Amino acid sequence: MSVLTVKNFNLPTPPAIALRILEVIKKGDASFIELARIIEVDPALTAKILKVANSSFYSMPNSVHTIEKALSVLGINITKNIALSFAIAKDMRGSDDTRFDFTYFWKRAVTTAVGAELLASLLHYKNDELFVSALLQDIGVLVMYLSRPEEYSQVLDEKRVSGTSILGIEQKVFGFDHQEAGAELLARWGLSETLSTLIRYHHRSDCPEEMRTPVNLLHWSAMLASIYYGLQSVEKVQRLKAEICPIFRISAEEIDTLVDSVAKKSLELLSFFEIDPGEMKPFSLLLQDANEELQRINLSYEHLVMQAKQARAKAEELAAELLEANNKLRVLAFRDGLTGLYNFRYFQELMERETSRATRYHLPLSLMFFDIDHFKEVNDTYGHPAGDEVLRCLAKLVTTTMRTSDIIARYGGEEFAVILPMTDMAGCRVFAERLRRLVEDMKMVIGGILLRITISLGVTTCESGMVSMNKSQMIKAVDEAMYLAKKKGRNRVEVRELQP
Ligand code: GH3
Ligand code: MG
Ligand code: MG
Repeated sequence: MSVLTVKNFNLPTPPAIALRILEVIKKGDASFIELARIIEVDPALTAKILKVANSSFYSMPNSVHTIEKALSVLGINITKNIALSFAIAKDMRGSDDTRFDFTYFWKRAVTTAVGAELLASLLHYKNDELFVSALLQDIGVLVMYLSRPEEYSQVLDEKRVSGTSILGIEQKVFGFDHQEAGAELLARWGLSETLSTLIRYHHRSDCPEEMRTPVNLLHWSAMLASIYYGLQSVEKVQRLKAEICPIFRISAEEIDTLVDSVAKKSLELLSFFEIDPGEMKPFSLLLQDANEELQRINLSYEHLVMQAKQARAKAEELAAELLEANNKLRVLAFRDGLTGLYNFRYFQELMERETSRATRYHLPLSLMFFDIDHFKEVNDTYGHPAGDEVLRCLAKLVTTTMRTSDIIARYGGEEFAVILPMTDMAGCRVFAERLRRLVEDMKMVIGGILLRITISLGVTTCESGMVSMNKSQMIKAVDEAMYLAKKKGRNRVEVRELQP
């Protein structure tokens, strides 16, 4: 198998019309009429050239209606180059596939050509070949892909993955790069020597000295286009300024204006090339959009943070409310609403706990019940609210009288229970008697009226060492004791021994 060099590489033939134009030019004595006749055979091409001649690119004082006129005002060289650009860009388009996007290729090429033209005019540099050489500078890529799609896709994949320069990968896979392929193609097609030399050196720093400026312009035009097609656009604008401004005494603002006009003029020219420009906004507007977007993102971020804070505050508030509600519930579950004393249900639990503790540690345990005497009369005489107040006063009195280890509960309507841990019968009796007297002596002023009550008390004790301390036995005994106190005339203490 022969080694592949660009010389024996299969290069495409030029578009027919381009070939004819080039043949006439090659003869050296091409007349306007002769050239016009060739171009006018293709009405679409004619229309495109006239559009360019009348576009803002050349700002003609009068409109140009014929190719002959275009040739006379733009010159043979420029008209020829415009014609070639259109013919080649139209001809060299495969069908877009997943590996190669021809529309993107030509779109970027046109933008590059526009960039070259505008930059040249900013720098007052004149070169008729610049537009077409900028347009075709990467034609080698296209040629290589069209001839060997499989191998060139490999090059493109490797570039995407490694991010290294495409030239090295091309050299490795093909033995030559797209500069050489492009230069060879254009030379074979008979385009000018200048053009193919420019293409040959467009990525190289070792170009012939007289080519330095146009090669640089090609480099900058590619950079101008990449602002609109690649990443890191802001950095690229900075680099352009750093490279161009000091050499040509151009201000940074002039570069900004240049960058914006590349987008505006590209829009115009892309339509002549029948390429959909898509959304191509001037860079300054893109930046503005980006900043607005950034601001919007920031704003919505702040909004989110605020919402999160509010949600957290709300959650904390709810948690506090929940805690409070739970506390209230707990109180409700254990306490009696009127007096604040433990309720009947909790008294049962406490009795359970105290009896088993007394059994385990062989401690005495006493239980006392008391009930208000003739309480019904209090209610009947002074009203139910007064009765309630009496219940509260009594609860307070007992609470302040007993020891902290004693446990009082509201057992029923006007009936109370006091559990007295580590208290024997004698101690319990003393306490019951003291309480009876205190209640008897208590003077309550309720609604301006002096009220007095008495209570009847029953007590029982489980002495230490008693084999079993049964809760219900104790309750039964104490209830009987209290009943006995009522029976014996009220306002007294009665005792009931537990049956062993
Ligand atoms: P005794 O000396 O035999 O105990 O007579 P008593 O009137 O106290 O007994 P009785 O059981 O006949 O009446 C109890 C009364 O207690 C009836 C009821 O209206 C009253 N009572 C029960 N609970 C409450 C309460 O929460 N508030 C008020 N104000 N009265 C209550
Ligand atoms: Mg009563
Ligand atoms: Mg009662």
